[in-house]
Amino acid sequence: MSESQPIIDVQALVKTYDLLPVLRKLNLQIGHGEFVALLGPNGSGKSTLLRLLCGLSRATAGTIRIGGWELPKEAAAVRAQLGLVSHKAILYDTLTARENLLFFARLYNLPAASIDARITAMLDQVGLARRAHDLVRTFSRGMLQRLSIARALLHNPDILLLDEPYTGLDQDASRVLDDLLRAAHGGGRTILMTTHDLSRAAILPTRIVILSRGVIGYDAPASQTDALALAALYTDITSMTTAR
Ligand code: ADP
Ligand code: MG
Repeated sequence: MSESQPIIDVQALVKTYDLLPVLRKLNLQIGHGEFVALLGPNGSGKSTLLRLLCGLSRATAGTIRIGGWELPKEAAAVRAQLGLVSHKAILYDTLTARENLLFFARLYNLPAASIDARITAMLDQVGLARRAHDLVRTFSRGMLQRLSIARALLHNPDILLLDEPYTGLDQDASRVLDDLLRAAHGGGRTILMTTHDLSRAAILPTRIVILSRGVIGYDAPASQTDALALAALYTDITSMTTAR
């Protein structure tokens, strides 16, 4: 696949739940190395879109291609390229940080010989090396979030998807998350992050997309909109949306 092709290519995507349309022929193309903030009110379908991209949920109609591979028929190839940090941490409370990563490394079929070194490197990268042997249930929200990122990046995916990653984090933890995302993006990764925090969308992302009425209601480079202008724009674009 050439670098000029979008790494995420969504065409006419429809998702309905019990005849209720959430996504209505949504089109979205994301290029290699972009950092996209996906905004939208509660219930606008942000999490639904991320789940569809990961193959965790099936589209009602439309096509999804990730790195040239198509869902659902090439789901394994798609998943190999994606790391998901969902709103709810996908981690086991009764395992240590290291044991959690070991579990997922095996799930991802990472080569056995390199697993230990990879886990050590990831724990180090997210600043959890000293807590490696502590049970996850003793972790703060910020630590859980960092471990979730280590888990999502374990198999070195090209794309990182994050669903409301700043929710529940205090200022310090948010800043640590900023640094981690900056590093992930700086390393050439493509990032798609949902957030309802407009100020966050104005910091790291290179592109801002607003979901409204099941389609993309706004799409522009982040450099075109400062935080204040974005707030006005957001109200404008989403105010006509029926909250469900
Ligand atoms: P957001 O993440 O933007 O807050 P969601 O994607 O979670 O929005 O939800 C979009 C809409 O789809 C909401 O109306 C929600 O109630 C509905 N929805 C999401 N998941 C399901 C499901 N599994 N079954 C039925 N309805 C769902
Ligand atoms: Mg959501």
